[in-house]
Amino acid sequence: MSQDVQRVGQVDTMALRVHGIRERMARACARAGRDPAEVTLLPVSKTFDDLAIREAVAMGFRRFGENKTQEIAQKAPLLKDCNVQWVVIGHLQTNKAKDVARLAHELQSLDRLELAEALDRRLQSEGRSIDVLVQVKTSPEESKSGLEGPELVNFLRQLTRFDTLRVQGLMTMAVLSDDEQAVRGCFAQLRMLRDMARQEAIQGITLDRLSMGMSGDFELAIEEGSTEIRIGSAIFGSRPRM
Ligand SMILES: *Cc1c(COP(=O)(O)O)cnc(C)c1O
Repeated sequence: MSQDVQRVGQVDTMALRVHGIRERMARACARAGRDPAEVTLLPVSKTFDDLAIREAVAMGFRRFGENKTQEIAQKAPLLKDCNVQWVVIGHLQTNKAKDVARLAHELQSLDRLELAEALDRRLQSEGRSIDVLVQVKTSPEESKSGLEGPELVNFLRQLTRFDTLRVQGLMTMAVLSDDEQAVRGCFAQLRMLRDMARQEAIQGITLDRLSMGMSGDFELAIEEGSTEIRIGSAIFGSRPRM
């Protein structure tokens, strides 16, 4: 966070932070010769309360990233008047498919067939469909979940049979590292996997969206082709350790 943001009083801090992020997004786009309109800012509200979300809603945000369905279930009733669209970004156990089908507008962490099957079943009975991104593992860290790159094309082919899942693109989390080249490499890998998958011309799947980049690495992600950055702490402040 920049010094001048910290010096400003509490009242309009979030607005200033968002403004600062938008400026950095614009500069990253300029460096990469990209149109800033191609990159969406998704606020990640996990661990932050309904009042923080309201503040962001007042600035025009409607979609919010959360990593736990239990948290969405708690916050949604408090924000009924805000028309929030919940975007699930965290690793999901299959038994949470029901909650996703009921509560979420979009899922960015689809990483296995078992989960797709469970989601489809639940969505059918809700009479709904949702946008999904396939999460790909681009980092060697054990803690990062996601489909392995070589499995991607086959997995995408299998997804075409689920009418309730609108496959929009791919998502990844880069390695947590100070090594800029290593982080950039994760983002470049996702984009390359996307380009390769596109060549397969899988029916109905164009993979226009690449969700990559967080508070600590979003500029690199934009330079490597991100269409959506998922920003938590740089908007809402630091999270308590969980
Ligand atoms: C928490 C989280 C983010 C946002 O992280 P920040 O570093 O706070 O911006 C983005 N993506 C995923 C998958 C997350 O779990």
